[in-house]
Amino acid sequence: MEENIKQLTDTTLANIAACDTGAQLNDIRIGILGKSGALTALLKSMKDIPPEKRPEVGKIVNVARERLEAAIADRQAVIEQQELDRRLQSEKIDISIDVPTPCAGGYHPLTLIRNRIVDFFSSLSFVVDEGPEIETDYYNFEALNIPADHPAREMQDTFFVTDKFLLRSQTSAGQIRMMEKVKPPIKMISPGRVFRADEADATHSPVFHQVEGLVVDKGITMCDLKGILDLFAKKFFNENTQTRFRPSYFPFTEPSVEVDASCSQCGGKGCRVCKGTGWIEILGAGMVNRNVLKNCDIDPDIYTGYAFGVGLDRITNIIYGINNLRTVYENDIRFLKQFN
Ligand SMILES: [Zn+2]
Repeated sequence: MEENIKQLTDTTLANIAACDTGAQLNDIRIGILGKSGALTALLKSMKDIPPEKRPEVGKIVNVARERLEAAIADRQAVIEQQELDRRLQSEKIDISIDVPTPCAGGYHPLTLIRNRIVDFFSSLSFVVDEGPEIETDYYNFEALNIPADHPAREMQDTFFVTDKFLLRSQTSAGQIRMMEKVKPPIKMISPGRVFRADEADATHSPVFHQVEGLVVDKGITMCDLKGILDLFAKKFFNENTQTRFRPSYFPFTEPSVEVDASCSQCGGKGCRVCKGTGWIEILGAGMVNRNVLKNCDIDPDIYTGYAFGVGLDRITNIIYGINNLRTVYENDIRFLKQFN
C-alpha cells in the first residue's frame, strides 16, 4: 500500500512538472484527486486495511495528497504566468517603428538668385522697391514712352484685367513710380513678377521674373552703366567674366543695349552653353530716355540716368545649368531639393 502510494505520487509529480497547459493540469488533478481519482480510490480501499494500521496509512495518504495539491498549485501559477507572458508578447505594440523625419523647407532657386541680386545691389546702396503687379496702362506703357499707337506694344502680349488695368508686362513700371515719389539722386532696384500671354515652353512662361534697376543723378553716363554691370557679372559668374554691349532698342532707353557676359562654362572659347559664341546674353539696359524723365518731372538737361532689366529666370537657368524653364515652375520636390 505504502509502495503504491509512493509510486503514484512520484509518477503524478513528474506528470505535473511536465504539463504546460491549464487543461492538461486539470486532467491530472481530476485523474488523481477527483471523485474517481487514483488517490481517492486508494482512500476508499482503506476499509480493507487492518484497523490498527489505518491511522499510519491515512497519514501517508494525506501527506501525499498535500504534496500533490501543493505541486498542482505551484504548477498552476507557473502555467498562468507563462500564458500571461505569451499573451503580452502577442499583443505587444512596437512603438519603436521608424517614422519619416520631417524635412526642412528651402528656398526656390529663383528666390536664391533673386536674394543674391538684391544683396549685391543693396550693398551698393540701391534701395529695393517692389511695385504693384496690377498696373495701369499709364505706368506700364504710356509713361515709359510707349504711347497707344506705338509698335513696341505689339512686342509684348499683355494680360488685361479690365480696360484700365493690366498685369504688368515689365518691372520697368516701377521706375516711373519711383521717380514720381523721389527726386534725384535715385538708386533703386525693383524685383518682381511680370506677366505676358506666352505659351509655356522650354524658354517661355506666362509668368516670369525681372529685376529692374534705375539710377538717376547729375552726370550719370554709359560708363557708370558699363561699370556696374561689369561688377555684377563678375560677382555672379566669376572674376574673369567680361561684358560687352550690343546696340538694341527699348522705347524707354536711348541709347539701348543688350548686355552679354563671357561664357563662364568655356571662358569664351565657345561651347554648347553659349552655342559656340563664347557669350551669353544676360540683360537689357540703356540710358533713360529723355521723354521718360520729362514724364516724371525730372529735367533731362540737368539729370541723366541708366536703367537695366535682368531676366531673373534666365540668370537662374544660366547659373544652375537648367535647360528647361518649365522645371523651375513645376515644383517637383526632387528638382527643388537639389538647391538646398
Ligand atoms: Zn561657352
